[in-house]
Amino acid sequence: MLIAPHPDDEALACSVILQKAVRAGAAIRIVYVTNGDDNPWPQRAVERRWRLSASDRKRWGELRCTESLAALRILDIHPADVQFLGLPDQGLTDLLLRDCDSALTRLTQVIDDWSPTDILAPSLFDIHPDHNAVAVMMRLIFADFLAPGVSQWNYLVHGRSPAFFDRAAELSPSEVETATKRDAIRRHQTQSKLSRRRFLRYATRPERFLRVERESAVWCDGAVHSVSRTRDNLDVDLRFSANPFRMQRNKFFILGRDSLGRKRACQIRLPGCSADLEMLDCATNHSIGIARYRGHPFAGEFTLPLHLFSPIHDLFIKVDRRSWFFDEAGWIEIPGVPSLAKVPLSVIYAEAHSLAVR
Ligand SMILES: [Zn+2]
Repeated sequence: MLIAPHPDDEALACSVILQKAVRAGAAIRIVYVTNGDDNPWPQRAVERRWRLSASDRKRWGELRCTESLAALRILDIHPADVQFLGLPDQGLTDLLLRDCDSALTRLTQVIDDWSPTDILAPSLFDIHPDHNAVAVMMRLIFADFLAPGVSQWNYLVHGRSPAFFDRAAELSPSEVETATKRDAIRRHQTQSKLSRRRFLRYATRPERFLRVERESAVWCDGAVHSVSRTRDNLDVDLRFSANPFRMQRNKFFILGRDSLGRKRACQIRLPGCSADLEMLDCATNHSIGIARYRGHPFAGEFTLPLHLFSPIHDLFIKVDRRSWFFDEAGWIEIPGVPSLAKVPLSVIYAEAHSLAVR
């Protein structure tokens, strides 16, 4: 099962692995999270008009879906094996931070109904905000519903994060597979006006996949230089690159679960100097605490109180320094802190009993 945020991700990131899977006789399911309808610059360039109405975008999204089906046909995958969920293009980070329960239920159902053995999904380290948001959604789904025997692999379409490239496995294509990949990419004609060369370059680099595993290490990326988590606090050390286009927008997001298992997300606006920072709940915009920030325009550190979040669940953090529509880096996963609750009750009772006997 391939989870693709947009029409075209299948061709750019997974054409070769899909050809190999088809040849191996695997059953294949492709799930597009969005229709790619919020794609104004290519649409303006192709349609030669500036103003785009909601119906123009809808039509463009439908055209992009048709192109995906054509690309998949080149890879020998049929429309009956393809599903479009129609979630908001360029809006998945907002959805993730504010209210992603229905999106998660939908994705979980799609996965559960088809019961894949292997899932290909976008990487946390992809710098497209829709891609890294889907990556977090997949982590949240798998924390709840980890079917034994399902392996998950991440692919990266945008960016060069070492946290991905230093660890991902490379898949070498044959000449025929590369030529077929190029053909599949060319089906995305709506994208070729502005990005033809960039798109075709994907056919010249090997596809890479990073297996998703439970990790105790934290893989820092972008402005996050280091993090350390205890049950009560998160210490974050930030180093900012001197990119003038990214200095304007410095927000910090943290997402996890509360003690009842509900998803919670907060944001903080990062200033260019030391200050007290208000943590705002992303869903309600209410203040939920203050963090003391020590910093200057190129670095900063703060300790974040974690009273909103349950210590046993994973946390996800991201420094939002978007320029144009790309992030500087994606999300960082911070594993939960081991808890007494994980010790089986029988052990606690046995210990209590032996103490009482003594
Ligand atoms: Zn994409």
